[in-house]
Amino acid sequence: MAEQKKLKLGVLTSGGDAPGMNAAIRSVVRTAHHYGIRSYGIKTGYEGLFAGDIEEIDHADVSGIIHRGGTILRTARCAQMMTEEGQKKAAEIIKILRLDAIVIIGGDGSFRGALALSKLGVNVMAIPATIDLDMDCTDYTIGFDTAVNTAADAIIRIRDTSSSHERCSVVEVMGRNSGRLAIMCGLVGGAEEVLIPENPVDTSSVIEQVLHNRSQGKHHNLIVVAEGVGNSNKLAKEIERVLGIEARATVLGHFQRGGTPTARDRMHATIMGYTAVKGIVDDEKSKAVVYRHGKHVLLDIEEATTAKKEYSPRLYDMTKILAI
Ligand code: ATP
Repeated sequence: MAEQKKLKLGVLTSGGDAPGMNAAIRSVVRTAHHYGIRSYGIKTGYEGLFAGDIEEIDHADVSGIIHRGGTILRTARCAQMMTEEGQKKAAEIIKILRLDAIVIIGGDGSFRGALALSKLGVNVMAIPATIDLDMDCTDYTIGFDTAVNTAADAIIRIRDTSSSHERCSVVEVMGRNSGRLAIMCGLVGGAEEVLIPENPVDTSSVIEQVLHNRSQGKHHNLIVVAEGVGNSNKLAKEIERVLGIEARATVLGHFQRGGTPTARDRMHATIMGYTAVKGIVDDEKSKAVVYRHGKHVLLDIEEATTAKKEYSPRLYDMTKILAI
């Protein structure tokens, strides 16, 4: 009897790195191993496809990475993939490599790349991983919890010194064009003002709020600014100039992307990695693994790629209510 052909899957991480990506890679490779599927690691996202930077990885190659930040496959933003010509070339390369499916771990941009490939006949399984939590298709994206914890830890330290010196601290967190990360950081860090791109506020009303809070007995102030708003240094300088109180800006930047993923991120990454490969085993085609209503389920990649997640006005309002 002829030996049954072993399925081959490629796995890549794309876009900004997010803590928990390694746990997802591990889960994909180990689940594939369990089902007799061969795994190929594609390095530096879609870039690696074009460069042919691909290597077989087995269960032993993913030992000791579940708790490591970053991604062992490395990641990149790849301009070539944004063009129709590039997408066709990528699909062609996947065919030449005889990969039966590609697991794509990344944010909404990476999902759009996955959708383009699926339209060219590639079987894709997409896993949402971005610290921004800005994808409408899912209630959770790998990396968000770790990023919030990292920022919250930094904010609490800044609060201590801010409070000792009766300072106004402006802390800028990541999140690209989404305010979701900033709102959560503000809530758990006890910020009195959270500035998000979705709801622009002018500098004079921020200064007015700081003044009001001081008049209510506050000796220090904490303002969280989303990356999409930016200009934290300018804001701090303006507060200092108008109110005559010491104001300092801290931009957390990439500090927020690194570090050991929290148990929550490892849990989602592990279940999502397993669910993606189980989907391939069950002959599902071109899906995304999403977390909805407390369950990890498969959704058509087209549906998963449609909208950006809106910020939550309810949580935003909560930051205002709890400000004083
Ligand atoms: P993060 O949320 O962490 O930034 P992301 O996946 O959204 O992650 P992007 O830079 O937006 O990050 O996208 C990653 C890559 O996905 C891009 O560099 C590009 O290669 C591919 N990509 C983005 N948008 C598209 C698109 N419209 N069509 C095809 N490929 C795309």
